[in-house]
Amino acid sequence: MTNGTAEQTGKAAELKEQLADVFAYTNKVLDMISKKDITKEEAAWITKETVDNFREHVNPGFLAYRKSVTKDGQFAAVEWKDSGLNCFMDVHGKEYIDCLGGFGIYNVGHGHPKVKQAVIDQMNRQALHSQDLLDPLRAILAKILADVTPGALKYAFFANSGTETVEAALKLAKMYSSRTTFIATTRAFHGKSLGSLSGTAKGVFRKPFLPMIPGFKHVHFGDLDMMRKTMEACAMTGEDVAGVIVEPIQGEGGVILPPDGYLKGLRQLCDEFGALLIFDEVQTGMGRTGKLFCCEHYDVVPDILCLAKAFGGGIMPAGAVVATEEVFKSFFPNPFMHTTTFGGNPLACAAAIATFNVLIEENLPARAAELGDYMLKGLREAAADHGDLVLEIRGLGLLIGIEFHTDEIGYEVSKGLFDNGVLVAGTLINAKTIRIEPPLTITYEQADRVIAEFKKVLGQIQL
Ligand SMILES: *Cc1c(COP(=O)(O)O)cnc(C)c1O
Repeated sequence: MTNGTAEQTGKAAELKEQLADVFAYTNKVLDMISKKDITKEEAAWITKETVDNFREHVNPGFLAYRKSVTKDGQFAAVEWKDSGLNCFMDVHGKEYIDCLGGFGIYNVGHGHPKVKQAVIDQMNRQALHSQDLLDPLRAILAKILADVTPGALKYAFFANSGTETVEAALKLAKMYSSRTTFIATTRAFHGKSLGSLSGTAKGVFRKPFLPMIPGFKHVHFGDLDMMRKTMEACAMTGEDVAGVIVEPIQGEGGVILPPDGYLKGLRQLCDEFGALLIFDEVQTGMGRTGKLFCCEHYDVVPDILCLAKAFGGGIMPAGAVVATEEVFKSFFPNPFMHTTTFGGNPLACAAAIATFNVLIEENLPARAAELGDYMLKGLREAAADHGDLVLEIRGLGLLIGIEFHTDEIGYEVSKGLFDNGVLVAGTLINAKTIRIEPPLTITYEQADRVIAEFKKVLGQIQL
């Protein structure tokens, strides 16, 4: 203000007057954000604001859809803070063991101190990059990725989300191959922006937005024979395949593991037909399945690897596409062929570098393998007498799916677990398979509690 002219000062006051209510509202909320603890009255206020504003300004559909995270029909569950690495707390102070893990973003836990510190330190120095000078953390993170990823994967492009990494992978494959056909699989999930949605398989999410980008085909996941036939047909018709995109284990599709030899077979087919193999490890990467990257279980190296979700350590939104030099060099002559303003920003890179540090230091992939075996066994034992409810429990590492006979049963189980302080993914319209994907830092005691609550809830269900 001291430097402003009288006219500017007057204008500022004018805006403050015009938007006095908004200004007061922002002040109140900023004050609340800065608080370590909130009072009962404040919790009630936040709950009311949240529910009202979801109804009026976000999307009332969420209030109905998220019924499973509601006790007795009240819209009461409003999250507020982390509670240790593996739990979070709602505004009323109720703690939940997080077995949803933000659909796999909390591999190193909620607010891991080392990741948090790296981001705070970087923020205090420089939050975002100039866009013009060379930013050091981008370069360093790219080198780390080359070192930790298998095979000849070497160059990285950074993005802010999973869907953006898939978009980048598709453009890279087109640029490299000058081909336009892609093959994805049934039950695949690659994101919801138009390019990645073309690879995503779920009809309800695609239908209103048809046509998708041209050249996308879907083949049944696991069916190598059909994949060969489709690639043959594409070659015969001159619509050669640029790339085959798959999740090594399908996450959103319900934790579907590939049949024996499937991924190796895809690698061979891609080599035979000159197509690129793109692995979408947005959910399976970063230690989730018991190895740093899921493809390592199957000894298959893709040409392009997509990472996001846990890549930012549960603190920053971040993603990366890593490719071989052979493929990535098609972006060398003009690096502006695919860019993003915020992708690979210093905060995201600091978070990702710290995340690798923590994954290595705490040996979290091995921990995921160990705890995953333990939970899989425990959950199966808990469901042993409930074959009428549970169809199958499967998984690898801490990516576990529990498949029920119907959506209704799954919904009742996820609701029951939620009431007992365990959050799992399971919504009103999609609960036939619920996913258990807690932070890889989950303790044995917490795993035991999850298993015990699961057993208890199964026992209470009346068909
Ligand atoms: C979640 C997910 C995506 C999309 O990531 P967003 O960050 O939500 O865009 C893509 N692929 C897979 C395998 C995912 O699980």
